[in-house]
Amino acid sequence: MKIKTLITTAALAVSILTVGSASAARVTSQYLNKTHQEVKNWAGYTNPSVYYDRAVCSRDMTAYACGQKIQLGTRFLQSKENSYPLSAKFIFAHEWGHTIQFKYNIYSRAPYQELQVDCVGGAFTYHGENSLGYRGLFRSAQGLAYAIGGDPTHGSGSQRAYYTRKGYNTGGRLESCF
Ligand SMILES: [Zn+2]
Repeated sequence: MKIKTLITTAALAVSILTVGSASAARVTSQYLNKTHQEVKNWAGYTNPSVYYDRAVCSRDMTAYACGQKIQLGTRFLQSKENSYPLSAKFIFAHEWGHTIQFKYNIYSRAPYQELQVDCVGGAFTYHGENSLGYRGLFRSAQGLAYAIGGDPTHGSGSQRAYYTRKGYNTGGRLESCF
């Protein structure tokens, strides 16, 4: 009886830790600027200009990269953060990955062009968890990748989740994604 109680308590503690390991951030300019620095310091190779809520690549205010520009919609990022805490950081790193592809003329057929930068995003989650202290970042990113998959350009949810994990498993070395 006592052992059973202990086990139940232990299981509960684990589930609370897992669920509570990341909390939804408010997508403020501080949060985005900090994320920008984190991704920039980690990724190197490029130094794109980042625009919030400005149609520099597309009228669609989600997340885009074109050339050495990244365009991010803050309402879009907030909606993803609400369901997948910290996932705006993964999205940021994904778009950063595109700027590396564009700078170095790395082009693959669909959906591998996109899956390659899901790998970059996944690699950032390793760095985020292990060097920046963002517990739960990988789980959130993988959940998001799975949920938003399904179109021919980006790949299926399973493919997106797989490449996000592949990136995580590089130990934070984005070079391994290319
Ligand atoms: Zn993309």
